[in-house]
Amino acid sequence: MRELVDANRKEIASLISREHGKVLGDALGEVARGLENIEFACGIPNLLKGGYSEQASTGIDVYSIKQPLGVVAGITPFNFPGMVPMWMFANALACGNTFVLKPSEKDPSTSMFVAELLKQAGLPDGCFNVVNGDKEAVDRILEHPDIAAVSFVGSTPIAKYIYETGTRNGKRVQALGGAKNHMLVLPDADLDMAADAAVSAGYGSAGERCMAISVVLASDSIADALVEKIKQRIPAIKVGPASESESEMGPLITGEHRDKVAGYIAGAEGEGAKLVVDGREGAPSGGGFFLNPSLIDNAKPGMKVYDDEIFGPVLTVTRISGYQEGLQLINDNPYGNGTAIFTRDGGAARQFEFDVQVGMVGVNVPVPVPVSYYSFGGWKASLFGDTHMYGPEGVNFYTKTKVVTSRWPDPSTSSVDLGFPQNR
Ligand code: NAD
Repeated sequence: MRELVDANRKEIASLISREHGKVLGDALGEVARGLENIEFACGIPNLLKGGYSEQASTGIDVYSIKQPLGVVAGITPFNFPGMVPMWMFANALACGNTFVLKPSEKDPSTSMFVAELLKQAGLPDGCFNVVNGDKEAVDRILEHPDIAAVSFVGSTPIAKYIYETGTRNGKRVQALGGAKNHMLVLPDADLDMAADAAVSAGYGSAGERCMAISVVLASDSIADALVEKIKQRIPAIKVGPASESESEMGPLITGEHRDKVAGYIAGAEGEGAKLVVDGREGAPSGGGFFLNPSLIDNAKPGMKVYDDEIFGPVLTVTRISGYQEGLQLINDNPYGNGTAIFTRDGGAARQFEFDVQVGMVGVNVPVPVPVSYYSFGGWKASLFGDTHMYGPEGVNFYTKTKVVTSRWPDPSTSSVDLGFPQNR
């Protein structure tokens, strides 16, 4: 499967791009990061080893074995139709489970193609199944007595619903939710690097990434300069259809979602923020749900543009007095998926890593998606359940552990003893 996905990178990326609308380079990046998870799963025997304690008591050995759960399911969002299913099924199958995938109804074709590749790779029929649909299909999965566990990635209200319903039905559930990722820029940061990072992480994939930066926390002394640098970079971003090779940012997923995002931009000034760049102006018209990048300054808690996950090409800036206020804002936010600090001060960065209540932290890295041999997951309202996705935590999620206490018959040590077993 690893070889087949590698050989079909362009085919998969093109399918994603045509159906989702993200540009080809972005889709290729998604496939590469998904492939990492398949490569990780190729080394699964090493992670499926249990423990062994010889002579835990006289003549008694104790060991643990990891076994599959059985049938497990994955329910995935529209924004990564290739990568997020790979986060799940690679480890689930390698751990010995069978897998039912319910992809987003907005872009299900990649999952169908991947199913064909798995068949070509020799996976027996029935081990990987794609069920298309929306809430109705999801509810059947959540109720089905044969499904032992559910992995979910999507928005926070649905993640909460999946977790509550799935666990009520006795399933193991990991449900990753939405995000509102803050990037804290301290006065000593390289401002050009910070502006490049904010623009790349804010507008890449039209902001439809759960690890997108949506809030820039700018220390007062550098805020004017940083806003100016971000503003200067925006006109150079080429917005257009993914089918045109020069496009850097494609359309949003649906007309409804584009209108919702435009509504946040329209309401920003009425809430007291400053609309520095209005992405509704000059966006390509016709043939797609386009918005240009928007930049909103002076966003504050209590404003919709600050509080809500917008999930579009909208960067907001909140001005702060310094590290402590920035940290407080991040920790007060109900979401806790990703965050980043931009600074040259190693001590401040280290303190931030320690203090911040967020699952994935970048130090001068704006989109800190963990490599496949770590695990991916947020804190607070960005994750319902205990286990992060993929990597070692993914292996734990898709296996259950059995502990065997064993003694081989030795007549010389056998006697009747009604006492509770103790070490001897
Ligand atoms: P979504 O929650 O609308 O849909 C996700 C999945 O849930 C889809 O398969 C959909 O069919 C299903 N679904 C939708 N409504 C449902 C309902 N009422 N009952 C049962 N199932 C339902 O999310 P989306 O719009 O596809 O994706 C965007 C969201 O996903 C954003 O909030 C984003 O932050 C989040 N996301 C999170 C991560 C992460 O790792 N934390 C990664 C990617 C996306």
